[in-house]
Amino acid sequence: DRYTAAFAGSKRRFETAKGVFPTGVTHDARMMDPFPVYITHAKGAHKWDVDGHQLTDYFVGHGSHLLGHCPADVVQAVQDQMAKGTHYGACHDLEIEWGQLVRKLVPSAERVRFTGSGTEATMMALRLSRLYTGRPKFLKFHGHFHGWHDYVTVSADYPYDAPGVPGVPDDVARHCVAVPPNDLNRVEDALKADPDIGAVILEPTGGHWGAVPIRGPFLKGLREVCSRHDRLLIFDEVITGFRVAPGGAQAFYGVTPDLTSLAKILAGGLPGGCVAGRADVLAFIEPRAGKPKMKHPGTYNANPLSASAGVATLTRVATGEPCERANAAARRLRNKLNELFEARDWPWVAYGDFSMVRVVPNYQGARPSPTAGDNDGLVPFDGDVNALDGAKNMKAYYAMRQAMLLNGVDWWGFAGMTCCDHTDAVIDHT
Ligand code: PMP
Repeated sequence: DRYTAAFAGSKRRFETAKGVFPTGVTHDARMMDPFPVYITHAKGAHKWDVDGHQLTDYFVGHGSHLLGHCPADVVQAVQDQMAKGTHYGACHDLEIEWGQLVRKLVPSAERVRFTGSGTEATMMALRLSRLYTGRPKFLKFHGHFHGWHDYVTVSADYPYDAPGVPGVPDDVARHCVAVPPNDLNRVEDALKADPDIGAVILEPTGGHWGAVPIRGPFLKGLREVCSRHDRLLIFDEVITGFRVAPGGAQAFYGVTPDLTSLAKILAGGLPGGCVAGRADVLAFIEPRAGKPKMKHPGTYNANPLSASAGVATLTRVATGEPCERANAAARRLRNKLNELFEARDWPWVAYGDFSMVRVVPNYQGARPSPTAGDNDGLVPFDGDVNALDGAKNMKAYYAMRQAMLLNGVDWWGFAGMTCCDHTDAVIDHT
C-alpha cells in the first residue's frame, strides 16, 4: 500500500501501458509487481521518476553507463553528431576511430565488426565459429546469458534443464550443449564426445555477470582445453567489456579468447555492439576465393550517433579511472552491506567481483573478507546461488525492490552494478 501511494503516477502510466504492450513493459526484466516506476530523466548515479522521487540507480542502463548518466563529454559528442547526421548509409571517420579504440583496449581484437546489439554480436560470433571450424554446435554454461536469439536461449535461466525453449525449434536448440560452470572435466568430456562442437562461449566473470562467479584459473583452463581440442573460445564481454578493466575480463585475467562479443559500454549508452577477435576468423566476412563468405548487413552497424557516444566513452575508459572508481564503489557497497547484515545478525551475504554486487538472503556460508580484492570478493561458492530459495523467490524479490524504492534506491531485486558516479556518500545512503 505504501508503494502504491508513493508511486501513484507510475501506477497510472502502467494502467495505460498494459493496453499498449503485452505485460505493459518493453523488456522482461523491467517487470515489477504491482507495477514498475516510470522515469523522466537521469544524471550521474541518479534518476528521477514521474512522482518526483530521486532514485539512486544500480541498474545504470542495463550496465551500459559506466560513466554514469549523461556525462558532459558524451552528451556533447552526441549533440554535435546529431546536427551532422544520424545515418549516412556510408562509411565515416568515427567508425574507424571507434574500431581503433576497441583494438587498442581489447587484447584479442585484431579485427572488429560492428553490429546493432549484443544479441547480434553473439549470433555473429557463433556463426563465424561454424564457418571457421566447420562444426555446427557450441557449448555454453548453465545460467549464462548471451542475448535472446534462438541459439543461446538454452539453459540461460534456472532450472537449467527445462525441456525446450518456447518458440525455438528443437533442431536449433540441439546445437547448444550446456554444462555447469567451473568444471573443466565436464567441458573436456563434452568436446571429446561431440566433434560437432566448434566453440565454447561464456560470460567470463560468470552467468548473469557473476551470479555463480568464474575466476582466472577456470578461464586459463578453458583456453588450454579449447586450444588442445582445436575449438574456438568466445568471451561474451557484453557486460564485462570496458567494465572490469579497460580491456575487459580478458585483460584482467590475461586470457585471450579467439572471439569477443561486446556491446553496452562500447556504445556509451546508445545501441550498438561488435565482434572483435582473430583476423583469420573474422576473415570469413570477406569474399575470398574458395572460401564461403558470411553475409553481414545491418542498418545500424556503426551508426554515427552510437559511434560518437562510443568514442567519447572509450576515450575516458582508456584512462583506467572509470573502472577503478566503479570497482571501488561496489567494494564499498558490498562491505557496508555485509557489516549491516552482520550487525543485525541476518543470514544474508553481499558478494560480487569488480563493479557488480549481489545480495543473497538465507545464505549459510561464510561472509567474504572486507579486505577482499576485486576478483576475490566472495566466499568460494560451490553451490549455485540460483538454486537458493531466496534468490528465486519472486515475492521476496519484489518486496525487496519496493522497500528499496521507498527509500530512494533502484536496486534491481538482488543484484546491482555501479558506475563511476557512485560516490562514498551515495553508497553510504544506500
Ligand atoms: N550477452 C550478455 C552477457 C548480456 O548481458 C546481454 C544483455 N544484457 C547480451 C549478451 C545481449 O545484449 P543486447 O541486450 O544488447 O542484445
